Amino acid sequence: MSSMQNTPPARTTIQQTLLDEEATIALGASLAVACSEPTVIYLRGDLGAGKTTFSRGFVQALGHDGAVKSPTYTLVEPYELANWRVYHFDLYRLADPEELEFMGIRDYFGNDSLCLVEWPERGAGILPQADIVITLRPAESGRSATLVAFSEVGDALLKQL
Ligand code: ADP
Ligand code: MG
Repeated sequence: MSSMQNTPPARTTIQQTLLDEEATIALGASLAVACSEPTVIYLRGDLGAGKTTFSRGFVQALGHDGAVKSPTYTLVEPYELANWRVYHFDLYRLADPEELEFMGIRDYFGNDSLCLVEWPERGAGILPQADIVITLRPAESGRSATLVAFSEVGDALLKQL
């Protein structure tokens, strides 16, 4: 996978079965409340895999009351929460990774924030590296989630799950 060429070696890996939507939400919530450093999480998986469901659990656990939708057309949805700024990206419609430069991507990632990125492969080469990559796949019952740490921050987070 060429987009992963410069990625440091993987550290902790966790595999979970998510039996229903509630389990996906709970996984997002438990990662969110464990964050104590700025963190970048990539969410991989096909349409309908559960990436936005995970994001909803994550953002609501940090105090957001309203809906959480995939920002497919706007590319990013910001949430100003009590302890964190959370930026939820959906890069599905990104035509060219360079568009991220025009959006001022560095401001989002350099800013004591937590970033969730759906369709990170569309931003390859421009998007900052992930601390954790989560891959969601359909399973016999519900979904399977694979969580892999790619930094010390990500490693510490996964060890708390
Ligand atoms: P994505 O953002 O990856 O396209 P969504 O989060 O919008 O996917 O989820 C698509 C559907 O999958 C939703 O109807 C959601 O309720 C369902 N879903 C999420 N997690 C699970 C799960 N663990 N088991 C079964 N259905 C799930
Ligand atoms: Mg989505």
